[in-house]
Amino acid sequence: SIHIGKVVIIGASHVGAAVLNKITDFQLASEIALIDLDMDRARGEALDTSHAMSSPYSTNIKIHPGTYEDCRDASFIVITAGPSILPGETPDRLKLASTNTKVMRSVFSEIVKYTKDAMIIMITNPLDVATYVVSTDFDYPRAKILGTGTLLETYRLRYILAEHYDIDPKNVQGYVLGEHGNDAFVAWSTVNCASLGLDHLDAYFERSEKLDRCNIEHGIIQTAYDVVNLKGYTNTGIAMVACRFIKAILYNEHTILPCSAVMDGAYGMCDVALSIPRMISQDGIVRSFEVRLPDDEMEKLLRSQKSVRAALDGAGVK
Ligand code: NAD
Repeated sequence: SIHIGKVVIIGASHVGAAVLNKITDFQLASEIALIDLDMDRARGEALDTSHAMSSPYSTNIKIHPGTYEDCRDASFIVITAGPSILPGETPDRLKLASTNTKVMRSVFSEIVKYTKDAMIIMITNPLDVATYVVSTDFDYPRAKILGTGTLLETYRLRYILAEHYDIDPKNVQGYVLGEHGNDAFVAWSTVNCASLGLDHLDAYFERSEKLDRCNIEHGIIQTAYDVVNLKGYTNTGIAMVACRFIKAILYNEHTILPCSAVMDGAYGMCDVALSIPRMISQDGIVRSFEVRLPDDEMEKLLRSQKSVRAALDGAGVK
């Protein structure tokens, strides 16, 4: 039976506010507490969203600025604290590793004073570095730490392929795996559209040019930076991703989605967190799948491991 409870959101800027509003609109919480170093920001966002509770379209959710004590009875803690890459900067999330490793340690050392029960939804970048740090530096149940990872890139793949063939993005199946960032790769061996078969799509949709997989893959990475450069930050897509995971946990869906966690020996890896398909239930991440990958995709997964490990080393994380 599901229990809609309290969500604590840490970091109340672009991403935290978007997560707040999606959780509110989807009614995934009965109470939401917002924490930020800048508590005025948290107060402002809590007030703004609270005003919308008067609307007949809203369920009356209690939304307020919070403190870490709010973690004590939280069902979910969503971590969005720490800076992002900014418009015009080098397009690589990994350069945030040192700064946000410190932010993660400071945030998580507060959380563990109050709970080891809440499901942790990780959003802060570099996502795989942040997920690894909180999982290995603190004695928190690993199954309850879920890095949003490449579900966002997977949604971008669905959108881009669907635009290409002019179909519903929900018709696109398959995974983007590896690092959430520049070394994310499309596991083409898993991709299909409406069960028509990837190799037959050009024929079905009467395209004279062959699908350019390299170009699609490049587009999935680049599109994040396009959003940052066009509007200053990304927040809506990731907020939907966070809600997808929260719903999967609330409803005990046993759904399989790509997400990041510390690798537990799959593909011989254990010194990084990366996204591979994992099963999500009310207990969090209950299984991971070592999908059989062809050699070229395996090489790309190894490249992701190298990049994330190098960023961890650079930030002094064992
Ligand atoms: P932002 O720089 O606008 O806001 C960061 C907020 O964190 C600020 O309000 C700041 O006061 C707060 N903060 C910093 N240190 C803190 C601490 N120790 N405790 C509490 N609050 C603290 O960034 P944003 O655009 O909202 O993005 C937030 C994070 O989410 C970034 O790391 C960004 O890269 C990441 N992000 C991840 C994804 C993803 O797919 N995983 C997508 C978008 C953004």
